[in-house]
Amino acid sequence: GVQTCALPIWSKEAIMNDVAQPSPDDRATLNDGNRMPFIGLGTWGMTGETCYRAVRESLKIGYRLIDTAPMYRNEEEIGRAIRDSGIGRDEVFITTKVASADMGHDSTLKACQDSLARLGADRLDLYLIHWPSGGRNLETWGAMEELRSRGLVRSIGVSNYTTDLLDELQRAGAAVPAVNQIEISPFVFDLDLARYCSDKRIHLEAYSPLTRGNCLQEREVLQIANAYERSSAQIMLRWALQKGLTAIPKASTLDHLRENFNIFDFELYFGDMAKLDAL
Ligand code: NAP
Repeated sequence: GVQTCALPIWSKEAIMNDVAQPSPDDRATLNDGNRMPFIGLGTWGMTGETCYRAVRESLKIGYRLIDTAPMYRNEEEIGRAIRDSGIGRDEVFITTKVASADMGHDSTLKACQDSLARLGADRLDLYLIHWPSGGRNLETWGAMEELRSRGLVRSIGVSNYTTDLLDELQRAGAAVPAVNQIEISPFVFDLDLARYCSDKRIHLEAYSPLTRGNCLQEREVLQIANAYERSSAQIMLRWALQKGLTAIPKASTLDHLRENFNIFDFELYFGDMAKLDAL
């Protein structure tokens, strides 16, 4: 396991000290002791056979984390793909989320049961609050803690949470989230939030780590990609990996799926990390 949460991921020293050089099988150790892969498959926008095939292929390639949510409408096919893969349930890290519409105590408990039923699983590895929702955050978090103590969920976390919302949880004496899933890429990086999460050992999970494809052609990224003979996508994911983050790129083609997992065999030099940071 690779310890990442307590590292000062924003500082030059951390980057120079080679903080995280994980192999594909390494996992980040969360503040609750559970372990989470560094690369996962994002599945927003994929449903039906496209989603089923992408999950099956990703598991063949070596991905062991699948990120979904009820609003993606693909939990059934993801569950089926994981079962059909023949890979042991304990090997695959499944994340899903409670939707805003289901926030509140009883509705969160029910939403979790519904997701489990659609996934055909008896527990989740990570359950997240998908979006904060005024007034119901604490109540929902109470239900998340209950789900964890009942063994239906191994780790609980949040998504799109700001430092103020994380402070609110702390003031209420609630359990510290294991994960905060937020948008992170070289183009979108909230340093204060990252520092806060790192201090509290809240593992950061990067969504839209490829900028939804929007910035793959940016000149600075292409220059670095050319120098390493890698793609822009690989450069952005390697940047996230060297910061100790988990990243969940979404990909539907076999080439993209392979490319995005093939980032464990090269290293970005400090100067190039800094250039990407500057974006
Ligand atoms: P993303 O992963 O940054 O980008 C996905 C786009 O990049 C797709 O169009 C994909 O195309 C393309 N792509 C993938 N690999 C590529 C490669 N190697 N070269 C060129 N293009 C490539 O965007 P995202 O889907 O927004 O974020 C990833 C995941 O994060 C989501 O799927 C979801 O699971 C999660 N998410 C969570 C939240 C939240 O609120 N918690 C919000 C947004 C996203 P193809 O499909 O054609 O391969």
